[in-house]
Amino acid sequence: MGGPEIERLIELLAKLPGFGPRSARRVALRLLQQPETRLLPLAAALSDAARAVRKCSRCGNLDSRDPCAICADPERDRGLICVVEGVGDLWALERAGVHRGAYHVLGGTLSALAGTGPDDLNIAPLLARIGEHNVREVILALGATVDGATTAHWLSDRLRPLGVTLTRLAQGLPIGGALDAMDDGTLAAALRARRSL
Ligand SMILES: [Zn+2]
Repeated sequence: MGGPEIERLIELLAKLPGFGPRSARRVALRLLQQPETRLLPLAAALSDAARAVRKCSRCGNLDSRDPCAICADPERDRGLICVVEGVGDLWALERAGVHRGAYHVLGGTLSALAGTGPDDLNIAPLLARIGEHNVREVILALGATVDGATTAHWLSDRLRPLGVTLTRLAQGLPIGGALDAMDDGTLAAALRARRSL
């Protein structure tokens, strides 16, 4: 079907979240039929992003600068760190516009099933940040899943001896729900009404 370039494009598109072979073929065709307005700008954007975007060495956010715009913002309260599983959760909280502190992205959750242990997550830098800066409060904004709860429990055991206030999002998170699937209002309410652990 049209040569190895097209096959490769479809194969790569089909691996994207929410895509399958059928939607990959449809998108590939649309791109190839409009090379000037669709395909080339997308190729350039992908290439620019691949070159410029890095993980923030402080919090784990993705940005083209390091430290990221949030870590570098002097208006942000660095004494308040919101711990999230992934960058998608950070984006969701930013969209909700309710958190004026810093973030820390774990890069996943502890999971016995998936074999993810503490060393696989961005945990040591979190402990270091709390030790180095005057952190008053850590909000454990983890998803309402078994692994999210396990991770929150494990982290609270490590963080409590450091003398910081530990909080979690208020009830209202749908069970099994990820933060980035919540609407902004619900997420904002869950953060405002956070509770002590
Ligand atoms: Zn950062």
